[in-house]
Amino acid sequence: MILTHRLDPRRWSAKARILAAAGAFSLFGMVAAVATVDPNPNAVPTRTVVEALVLEHPSERQPTGEVFAHEERLAQGDTFASLLARLGVNGQDAARLVREAGNGRALRALRPGTTVRAVTTEDGELLSLRFLVGKDTLVGFDRDGPGFRAVQEKVELTSRVLIRSGEIRSSLFAAADEADVPDAVASQLADIFGGDIDFHRDLRKGDRFLVVFEQLVHEGRPVRTGRVLAAEFVNNKKTFRAVWFDGEDGEGNYYAPDGKSLRKAFLRSPLEFSRVTSGFAMRFHPILQTWRKHNGIDYGAPVGTRVRATANGVVEFAGVQGGYGKLVILRHGNGITTAYAHLNGFASGIQRGARVSQGETIGYVGATGWATGPHLHYEFRVGDEHRNPLTIALPAADPVPPGQMAKFRTATAESLAQLELARGLALASRE
Ligand SMILES: [Zn+2]
Repeated sequence: MILTHRLDPRRWSAKARILAAAGAFSLFGMVAAVATVDPNPNAVPTRTVVEALVLEHPSERQPTGEVFAHEERLAQGDTFASLLARLGVNGQDAARLVREAGNGRALRALRPGTTVRAVTTEDGELLSLRFLVGKDTLVGFDRDGPGFRAVQEKVELTSRVLIRSGEIRSSLFAAADEADVPDAVASQLADIFGGDIDFHRDLRKGDRFLVVFEQLVHEGRPVRTGRVLAAEFVNNKKTFRAVWFDGEDGEGNYYAPDGKSLRKAFLRSPLEFSRVTSGFAMRFHPILQTWRKHNGIDYGAPVGTRVRATANGVVEFAGVQGGYGKLVILRHGNGITTAYAHLNGFASGIQRGARVSQGETIGYVGATGWATGPHLHYEFRVGDEHRNPLTIALPAADPVPPGQMAKFRTATAESLAQLELARGLALASRE
């Protein structure tokens, strides 16, 4: 039995808080643009109304208890403990679960890239945790008194396609909440457009997005969010579009509708984008230096935020260096190096000579060296010369090969049609 039956599984943590604060039904207007396209007519249709959070049985522990569902993907370099922290599990439960299950069979199936779904109370008490192994096995833990019980169950999953649209007024995650878009999808959007948009610095009020994504469902309840199939992001009046395509080699990628790759040689931002980091810049007063003055860019972020390699490369330096504190320098092609300073620590395996791939976690934000608060100092050099990574033109990965364009057009037609539908709905709701 899954514990997620306790809540409307479409309820996501921050949204539930918003509902509690604003009253459940004031959100009706905001979801007017929500629609569902269901490729499988037998699957349970998605409702487009927002409901109050109702517990089927009130828990003894939390008489007024709201419960929260969180989803996070296990990243390269993550530990089970760091994943639990991101899932909002409190330290006590996290420590217990690591102790009880750390070496268990269930966790051996947990691989980087796996999406893990946790349900917690407001205090971060863990009620259940699930992740999918293979096509049809849910593995995880249920609360059992003070401890946890391992659970494994076969499930029959169906996939459905959801369409959402949103407008940025304060942050991407606030807009995602309003549009009923799970955090996992908001993060995917930041990844997909991460070669063109630095989501920590470039977002503007009035930016808009449309997104078509999959959701895997078991008996009408979401088990996990699937892949974004197509998306559009209007950033500072510039429109970017993406569609997922599985290439010949089985390696799927996001492309513009004309077949150009969205993947760039370098990510715009070296910082993972998350609900926490997205609002941090506003709270954190960065050390006020311009790029020109100090040859780098500062990103305010909480201690422990993951720092990612912006491009494939080799570790040239990983250690302590004067005012930089704990520092990683990566060497890429064409004489380009990138540097990541003031780190709290290094990801495992990050040492001189190690190869890293784009997006891989190399360390964690800290305040070592000459730093007045936790932030990442990022530098981009060509030869010995510092460049401003915010303005440098970055080469893109290869487009869809000409021989595959016909297949590309057929395979992406439906997703792009759904994106059109989303655009129509969004326009209608704004008028
Ligand atoms: Zn700096």
